[in-house]
Amino acid sequence: MRGFVEGALPRAYYFEYVDRSPGIAHNHDVMLAILVFLIGLVLGSFANVVIYRLPRGESILFPGSKCPHCGHPIRPYDNIPVVGYLLLRGRCRDCGALISLRYPLVELVSGIFLLLLYRRYGFSPAFFGYSLFSLMLLAIFFIDLDHRIIPNLLTYPGIAAGLIFSTLTGRLTNAIGAALGAGLFFVVVILVSRGGMGWGDAKLGAMMGAFLGWPLIAVALVISFVFGGIVGLLLVLLKLRTRKDVIPFGPALALGGMIALLWGEALLRWYLGR
Ligand SMILES: [Zn+2]
Repeated sequence: MRGFVEGALPRAYYFEYVDRSPGIAHNHDVMLAILVFLIGLVLGSFANVVIYRLPRGESILFPGSKCPHCGHPIRPYDNIPVVGYLLLRGRCRDCGALISLRYPLVELVSGIFLLLLYRRYGFSPAFFGYSLFSLMLLAIFFIDLDHRIIPNLLTYPGIAAGLIFSTLTGRLTNAIGAALGAGLFFVVVILVSRGGMGWGDAKLGAMMGAFLGWPLIAVALVISFVFGGIVGLLLVLLKLRTRKDVIPFGPALALGGMIALLWGEALLRWYLGR
């Protein structure tokens, strides 16, 4: 409160505060943030298409979306991210089949990712690079969950994009080291564990290294293994899976990558006690 007592602030400071056009810069920021969020929703809708079609070998661009139950094309106004789902109350307009809650969820998560990245990086190369990275992680999370594969069609371009991005942000050497390190780490894990992990995990690890660099890739891997271990243990304890079942590791990796991207530096500072 002391700062607001009359005369407590230097006069120049007071005038500077008063002279600012009230709220214009602020409103501008809020509008841009909302725009970024809406673009995130639309890109999330595209991620849904990738998640559904890529593992099935279908074209991602044509034709338009259909109800997976009755095959009726989805009307453009029903296809609006999140809003369409709410208007339809989660059911197909033609056959009444339930639409998975996952569709609006993926759209929302995508919007939130882009918003968080925009708040941290503004419109910078980092914002665009990490947005692409987080959308790819989002798609890989669900594709591996559904089909137990991590498509090369995502990881190979992902590694290339990560290295290009790291070149643009001036840390190519670091990124190459992190990509090779993570890839080799998984090769060792695959050879030692014989099953459980697959080559898709190694390629995803390399892609994450290419984007995150060192030391964030290490944070991502630690989180992935802790999270994957806990979920695996819970599934076995709750008798939802047996020890022999293959539990996909891609979702754990994607989650670890996203947490490392958003909060990795804070986690590292906390862990190192600084
Ligand atoms: Zn239908």
